[in-house]
Amino acid sequence: MLSASSTFPRRKKLVAGNWKMHGTRASVVALARAIRDGVAAVDTHAAADIVVIPASIHIPIVSDILAGSPLALGAQNFYPGDAGAFTGEVSLAMLKEFGCTHILVGHSERRQLLAESLALIAEKCWAVVNAGLTPILCVGETQAEREQGDTEKVIATQLCSVAKAVSTGTFRLYRHVVIAYEPVWAIGTGLTATPEQAQAVHAFIRNLVAHEEPEMEEQAASLRILYGGSVKASNAAALFAMPDIDGALVGGASLEAQEFLAIWRQAL
Ligand code: PEP
Repeated sequence: MLSASSTFPRRKKLVAGNWKMHGTRASVVALARAIRDGVAAVDTHAAADIVVIPASIHIPIVSDILAGSPLALGAQNFYPGDAGAFTGEVSLAMLKEFGCTHILVGHSERRQLLAESLALIAEKCWAVVNAGLTPILCVGETQAEREQGDTEKVIATQLCSVAKAVSTGTFRLYRHVVIAYEPVWAIGTGLTATPEQAQAVHAFIRNLVAHEEPEMEEQAASLRILYGGSVKASNAAALFAMPDIDGALVGGASLEAQEFLAIWRQAL
């Protein structure tokens, strides 16, 4: 079993806010400014990364607001093509031009509502890696899968379908990716996995990566694994105290600047 307190360097925590399809121009400006100013007021901000992920149409406005701030910018979606006849889509090159560094891939809402397949998610994840950006690859089981005892099987399938989509991909993938463990039953429901339930799955993921191929221990030890699912200021500290939880992917609570900043401060 890989020890979380190994000889490898400490993992820097990351708190990411997924704004989903929320906000008006005015509310997004106010939210981005408030988070930017809250980050600037903390002099140890380098101790934990923080990212906001607005809807695509709001990215240019937020990009301007964040100029010069340590607060990073992400995107919720893109199409894995360079350019061309893909009506309605945005490319990674377009997102990069506006300063996006982190890209969500495999969010359960896109798996379920937009029917994104394992193959498409793998293609998208590799497109992000190849573009030199950081994919935040979301994995997680439904309530029914948990009740059937299939949590580990589901997560292993979701991870391996990406790692094995490219020959010799495992080593390269885990050097670049951030994993977000998001039990589907905890997203937007107010139900949170207990710190112990989340830790058990995070440890499973780290061990899976460590043993997927020879000499993967170092990659596994430095891999950041976020927890997502109704994270709030009131439950973040207990989650972050777990040895394999390296931050959070936050939905609802990231739409309120002071609540989101309070979550991030607990990661410092
Ligand atoms: C999410 O959308 O990734 C998420 C975790 O949402 P919430 O925090 O609202 O559960």
